Amino acid sequence: MIKVIIFDFDSTLHTGEPWSNWHSYMLDTLHYALPDYDQKDILNFLSKYGLTLDSLTSLIANALIQEFGTAEKMVEFQSHNIYRLDYQKLEIINPKLLEDLSKKYHLYIVSNSPIESIKRHFGHWGINAELFKNIYFNQFENKNPTKSVFYQKIMSDEQVAPDEILVIGDNVTDDLVPAKNLGMQTFHTTKLQDIYDYFEFENNK
Ligand SMILES: [Mg+2]
Repeated sequence: MIKVIIFDFDSTLHTGEPWSNWHSYMLDTLHYALPDYDQKDILNFLSKYGLTLDSLTSLIANALIQEFGTAEKMVEFQSHNIYRLDYQKLEIINPKLLEDLSKKYHLYIVSNSPIESIKRHFGHWGINAELFKNIYFNQFENKNPTKSVFYQKIMSDEQVAPDEILVIGDNVTDDLVPAKNLGMQTFHTTKLQDIYDYFEFENNK
């Protein structure tokens, strides 16, 4: 009998690319920060610093500071617009399912995304992070780059047998193989509907 469910996060509890529209978002940011620049000017400015629209915000901010003495406009734009574009293509797990499951099982997340980022997403999606007993960031502890480290920790914390744990993830190699090797049950999801079907959940939006 399943007592514990461990979820992967990215492409499991949400599908789609959170930053898929990063280009246009960064371009809008730079149009705001550099109102006199057209697109070509912006790209030239970036390339002068060895950057592109895909570069890290912090690197682009540094380039702005070096060139113009400030990145204030960039910060201003992004603090107002950080959630304007990035979620358009995302589909997010129905919070009701997680609430239901948390009443029957102990829920965990083991992810390659940082905990703060997961919690920030949850905040914006109306998902209560407290539904999860713990969220682990797979930081390759013990120089062992596998989620196995955290699966074992959860198993020992919960004092359950491996086959009382179900691991749900989209990535067979990263999420499921380490679980299988420990004797845990696994479920491969390729879209949210797979998870709804597995738990016979009516996803009425
Ligand atoms: Mg994933």
